Amino acid sequence: MDKKTFVGGVHPPDCKHYSAAKPIEVCPLPEQLIIPLSQHIGAPAKEIVTVGDQVFKGQTIANATAFVSVPIHAATSGRVMAIEPRPHPSGKLLPAIVIEVDGEDRWDPSLKGLDVAHWNSDELRQRIKAAGIVGMGGATFPTHVKLSPPDDKPIDTLIINGVECESYLTADHRMMLEHSEKIIDGINILRRVLGVKQAIIGIESNKPDAIACMTKAAAAHDIEVQALEVKYPQGAEKQLIDAVLKREVPSGGLPMDIGVVVQNVSTAAAVSDAIRLGHPLVERVITISGPAVVEAKNLLVRIGTPMEFLLQQCDGIKYELDKIIMGGPMMGQSQLSLAAPAIRGTSGLLLFGHQDLPHIEVGTCIRCGRCVTACPLHLLPATIASYAILGRFDEAEDYCAHDCMECGCCTFQCPANRPLVQNLRYAKAGILAKQRRT
Ligand code: SF4
Ligand code: SF4
Repeated sequence: MDKKTFVGGVHPPDCKHYSAAKPIEVCPLPEQLIIPLSQHIGAPAKEIVTVGDQVFKGQTIANATAFVSVPIHAATSGRVMAIEPRPHPSGKLLPAIVIEVDGEDRWDPSLKGLDVAHWNSDELRQRIKAAGIVGMGGATFPTHVKLSPPDDKPIDTLIINGVECESYLTADHRMMLEHSEKIIDGINILRRVLGVKQAIIGIESNKPDAIACMTKAAAAHDIEVQALEVKYPQGAEKQLIDAVLKREVPSGGLPMDIGVVVQNVSTAAAVSDAIRLGHPLVERVITISGPAVVEAKNLLVRIGTPMEFLLQQCDGIKYELDKIIMGGPMMGQSQLSLAAPAIRGTSGLLLFGHQDLPHIEVGTCIRCGRCVTACPLHLLPATIASYAILGRFDEAEDYCAHDCMECGCCTFQCPANRPLVQNLRYAKAGILAKQRRT
């Protein structure tokens, strides 16, 4: 199969051997679930339960508060024991609903599946919002918003993201191997909501078993599977669209501006569960991996499970931890401790000791241009970084710093180890602050 790709990007070691062959295991229930009200891009949800309430699995415990927002659900049955600020993967203390688990795991009896054929696209979209479905690749953008393009932006193609280009992560890989039919069902529902015929699943060619599995499942549904070159960030939306369709999302624009909607494979499976079974998004597959973990695993985890509990299911650590990352090593979030819970956007939990990490010194720019060649958005990272350091945000904006997606390719490739992505982040914050003042 012809392998498509985009211009730029880097080739970090994929390190997927720790967990790629490990089938999905169901993680046991912890004693408590810590369910944050903010687990998505957009307005946080607002709680509708009080301390002492009994809740069922799948019951709505917090309502969406805006169009770009989703409700939050209890991930098992039990009693609400606190509503208070708790550690969040963002590093902040944020409001969360703490549930004392009763161990009975009883579903909300009011949750019912739908016969898709009898529901129109607006009704299906509402059901997807009510189920709290968000992008599960890590972006956590509410799915119903992506499925609501304005009339002047007709959609002709649905791209399904099965790339999983971040090193170590294998959750989507296992979903494609073990739940291919459910993913295809979700794709068919998404096509119906959007009113599009063309659907293409993009998968990196380092997952030939997943390509074979999805090709077989898609064969009777007029859904194409496209093998993609192994390169980071192949799974970023703009780079995936570029690779698959050779269309370019304009600066500051969205995929819907060029007739495309992108959804992740696990999101498609969650859509199928929401429509066919009436089950909201209360669990997801997470890869627990890294050289410091005794046994790497792909676990099906209830939303709100503390990270410390996840690590216990992997028999703990081999040596003292120096770095904890939630998500992938390039775009994931470093954690100060294992106190925060897994949330809807948690694709991985990676653990490293001191000896596993590079210990680098920052040097002077040698004008080699490798950061420019690596940047998938064709920016000039060294130039923008210099303007950011000088606080010259007008010039940084002229060089489109605001387009930076913080993929880290420039930093990864820099022989002088310059903290380019941090400088780019600073430039973006400076531009935003400037815009707010005017
Ligand atoms: S972090 Fe930003 S500037 Fe650096 S390579 Fe990625 S998109 Fe380009
Ligand atoms: S890669 Fe590093 S050393 Fe090379 S031009 Fe960019 S910032 Fe300078």
